[in-house]
Amino acid sequence: MLEIRDLVCGYGHVTALKGLTITVGEGQLVALVGANGAGKSTTLRAISGLVPPRSGEIRFAGRDIAGAEPRRILEAGIAHCPEGRRVFPQMTVAENLAMGAYLRRDKAGVAADRERIYAEFPRLAERRDQAAGTLSGGEQQMLAIGRALMGRPKLVLFDEPSLGLAPNIVERMFSVIGAIRDAGTTVLLVEQNAFAALELCDYAYLLETGRIVLEGKGEALIADPHVRDAYLGG
Ligand code: ATP
Repeated sequence: MLEIRDLVCGYGHVTALKGLTITVGEGQLVALVGANGAGKSTTLRAISGLVPPRSGEIRFAGRDIAGAEPRRILEAGIAHCPEGRRVFPQMTVAENLAMGAYLRRDKAGVAADRERIYAEFPRLAERRDQAAGTLSGGEQQMLAIGRALMGRPKLVLFDEPSLGLAPNIVERMFSVIGAIRDAGTTVLLVEQNAFAALELCDYAYLLETGRIVLEGKGEALIADPHVRDAYLGG
């Protein structure tokens, strides 16, 4: 579904990705793990059109989307759930969810999806008329996920969804992401919480300073001595 070949991109003098190659199959949950600054967020930003590639290919559902406008990429079916729960703080929960569906014209479908999200996250239902900025960190993260799903994406990009959340909420977050995959949506998950991501995923890539240095099934990476030492605390 998503194929990235030899992707190079960066910011000014910084080359954040130095020839990245990854594939995400339809229906898969693929994890991209690595240390701070390895280039994980940049990979997601390049896919969603926020950072222009210097060279390389990004193909989605057979089409070349490298360098396309973010709006076109969203229309093609890719939703980006960025790091740091970027909800619109002054807007209500309901308005934030509506923003996620702004490209859709099927009102009944939008309403049904909204109710499904409220059923999945009852806290959001209770607070639907409250400003999003007044929610807890975990609730804002759930809202950011709900908003991404409101566009009925084919592929969702998650950037560090567990960042800053309490441990019991982190667990719930990963189970929600697993459920999104189980419902048929393809997922590319960026995480510093390497163990949880590797346990959950169908396939994983390890990124170090802009290059993929290891790939395989999650359990293979969990068993790898280098991964154990550097990312899983030995
Ligand atoms: P993190 O988890 O800290 O976000 P990451 O693996 O997602 O790490 P990126 O954010 O993709 O890493 O950063 C890759 C490299 O690009 C780093 O060297 C970083 O300092 C640099 N970088 C990221 N964003 C910018 C920017 N806006 N301007 C300049 N350099 C940047």
